[in-house]
Amino acid sequence: MTKVQELAGKIINGDRRALSRAITLVESSRKDHREEALELIALLTASGKRATRLGLSGAPGVGKSTFIESFGTYLTGQDLRVAVLAVDPSSVRTGGSILGDKTRMDRLSRDPNAFIRPSPSQSHLGGVARYTRDAVTICEAAGFDVVMIETVGVGQSETIAAQISDLFVLLLAPAGGDELQGVKRGIMEMADLILVNKADRDLRHAAMRTCADFAGALRLLRPRPQDCKGFPKVIAVSAVQKLGLSETWKAMNELLNWRKEEGYFDINRAMQARFWFEEDVKQGLLARLYQNTVRQMISDFAGDVEKGKLLPSQAAREVISRIQDQK
Ligand code: GDP
Repeated sequence: MTKVQELAGKIINGDRRALSRAITLVESSRKDHREEALELIALLTASGKRATRLGLSGAPGVGKSTFIESFGTYLTGQDLRVAVLAVDPSSVRTGGSILGDKTRMDRLSRDPNAFIRPSPSQSHLGGVARYTRDAVTICEAAGFDVVMIETVGVGQSETIAAQISDLFVLLLAPAGGDELQGVKRGIMEMADLILVNKADRDLRHAAMRTCADFAGALRLLRPRPQDCKGFPKVIAVSAVQKLGLSETWKAMNELLNWRKEEGYFDINRAMQARFWFEEDVKQGLLARLYQNTVRQMISDFAGDVEKGKLLPSQAAREVISRIQDQK
């Protein structure tokens, strides 16, 4: 048996240390590690185990950590095993919220039925996406029932989370006025469920109004074939007071079960596989193209573009034609 086969066997048998080791392996960009990781992921995928993949996005401060702590604990209380992963291309440096921060998920991190992995300190978006996909596969093979993928609403991290998950949740906080908190239309269109958090104490009233605002805004979006009646849905929750958690889980299951029956669940995963295949090809091609000679050529032309000697489009055309001539 090879080293990688042994590791795969241990993961499938629920060995926690093997799980952590495997995630460290897929985080590595070393060439030999990448080869092993590829073999490992192929073996684990063949185990055929599936989890419910939940993407969770929200701006810093809306209560993501608190919600994951409460909701995760609610799920483990239902005898479910829960893994939490983070997609955060800008972690550490932002100085804001650190995703998958165990100190902010104190109870869940000590729960034997939960596993929390903070995001690795990679800044390269393509790298983060690949690592997260692999980490999800590892957690599924390890028998987790629910894998939560947490992301902060910046850059393309939500797109990554949405393209990895079966169900995408947008977490919001109550707003003062009736504006839609600058939530980008693109994110609204990706959301299957909007949770308005902090619906407690003096914020309860504002939370209800925010729920109504977003329910109204969702009705204006184009209906999607993958939604059953009443979705995308808006639910008021309180992570601190643990309100709305069972309602949230019920809604998630309602949608996911319907999608499974209607075939949309599998279609979604198939489309995601296709998306990541195409992304990987693009990333790989870019990496190959951006070798030193091309880099040098770009920086040479950039000087002329800055000085106004060449138009950006002219310079780009020239670079591309020279690259094609090299072949
Ligand atoms: P994150 O940056 O999105 O992970 O947000 P946190 O989970 O760190 O929460 C940000 C702040 O909001 C903290 O002070 C929390 O105590 C508070 N908070 C989170 N959930 C709730 C809630 O359900 N109700 C109230 N009132 N405050 C909350």
